[in-house]
Amino acid sequence: MSPPSPRAGAPRAVVGVLALQGDFAEHAQMIESLGARAVEVRSPAELDEVEGLVLPGGESTTLSMLLDWSGVREPLERRLRSGMPALGTCAGMILLAREVVGGRPDQRTFAAIDLGVRRNAFGRQVDSFEADLDVEGIEGGAMHAVFIRAPVVERVGPGVEVLATVEVAGVHRPVVCREGAVLVAAFHPELAGDGRLHALLIDAVLTARRSGVSAAP
Ligand code: GLN
Repeated sequence: MSPPSPRAGAPRAVVGVLALQGDFAEHAQMIESLGARAVEVRSPAELDEVEGLVLPGGESTTLSMLLDWSGVREPLERRLRSGMPALGTCAGMILLAREVVGGRPDQRTFAAIDLGVRRNAFGRQVDSFEADLDVEGIEGGAMHAVFIRAPVVERVGPGVEVLATVEVAGVHRPVVCREGAVLVAAFHPELAGDGRLHALLIDAVLTARRSGVSAAP
């Protein structure tokens, strides 16, 4: 099946980038370079404008606190529950997972994808590393992945598709996963200049737009 494309004259997909902390600017540039409109989201009003959201890398404990202070947590929880497409990378993946191990005791997640993740768990000697990944469903060759104090997926729920794994110390760890319209990656695709995961998010937004799913309340 070819990916959905907007009809001629249809408005561009409006994709938010959670801009409370972390490397949101690179994600916004990536979204714009793919022809969608990027909106930096720091408030509930900005969240209302968007049809999908990137949750970037950064520090998930800090992001979790800023989500509360900004008032974005509750409306975002509602949007995710009602099926808004999302892409979470690294800390963003932690925020979207069902369980997190090694977080602050008061760190809360959205439980938008049925994964159990452990923070900073690839081990000290591999705090940061790079790998070339084959990602299921993504064409055009391997994806160069930059991992920075990345989370390790320790549990994958039955409804979750694992689209790519990386082998570390003889163990294959899931690093790209999807459940419904929620896509997560343990690495930073924006740092390698690879927009193919962002393109999947934009496709999901256009699909959701047709079915009325991602319309803001
Ligand atoms: N280690 C960070 C955390 O636990 C994530 C790192 C990143 O996003 N690059 O939140």
